[in-house]
Amino acid sequence: MNEMTRKRNRLLAEKVIKGLESRNMTGYYAETSDEALQMALELIPEGASVGMGGCMSAKEIGLTDALRSGKYDFIDRDATPNKREAMLATYDADYFIASANAMTEDGVIINIDGNANRVSAIAQGPRYVVFIVGMNKVCKDVDHAMKRARNVAAPINSQRFGLSTPCTKTGSCMDCKSPDTICCQILITRYSRHEGRIHVILVNEDLGY
Ligand code: SF4
Repeated sequence: MNEMTRKRNRLLAEKVIKGLESRNMTGYYAETSDEALQMALELIPEGASVGMGGCMSAKEIGLTDALRSGKYDFIDRDATPNKREAMLATYDADYFIASANAMTEDGVIINIDGNANRVSAIAQGPRYVVFIVGMNKVCKDVDHAMKRARNVAAPINSQRFGLSTPCTKTGSCMDCKSPDTICCQILITRYSRHEGRIHVILVNEDLGY
């Protein structure tokens, strides 16, 4: 990444962090994935119970592997045959790890879900939520963020899961009601009533979809 882009992203991140503060959420800025990983591990004490959805950004910065190190009570839904049990345990976890499908320059976070396990845990349950968000997800406003979530994140995730949805074929949202749709619930996190619950680590890299 060139220096101009780096500078632009740093300035934009400052704005996002101020927006998050105004919404009772805490923002951080990491220049690299390694820095983001260190920040996340500083937030999560060893021994804490931790759940997550299928968070590509956490995988990409190495957080998922770190949580599997044995130092944490990691609720590893990919390693358990009983997904429902893992999902229910996640609601009572100390930490939930997530990314955003998009977020706005003033700190609003957008998540779209097919099964609601992710959006419901972000909204309530786990004591703390740590978001890992690449700067590629930051959009001008809610309208642009929603368009990103529907036309970039969801079609790519549809392809990733091999789903039979219109966007898998066209690459953009057709507002379907297909049985395979992954756009069943849309969560807009615009404020947290719970001081210190939501932490957002912005990363100056392209992460996730
Ligand atoms: S509503 Fe349907 S077509 Fe649109 S992004 Fe979601 S799954 Fe794809």
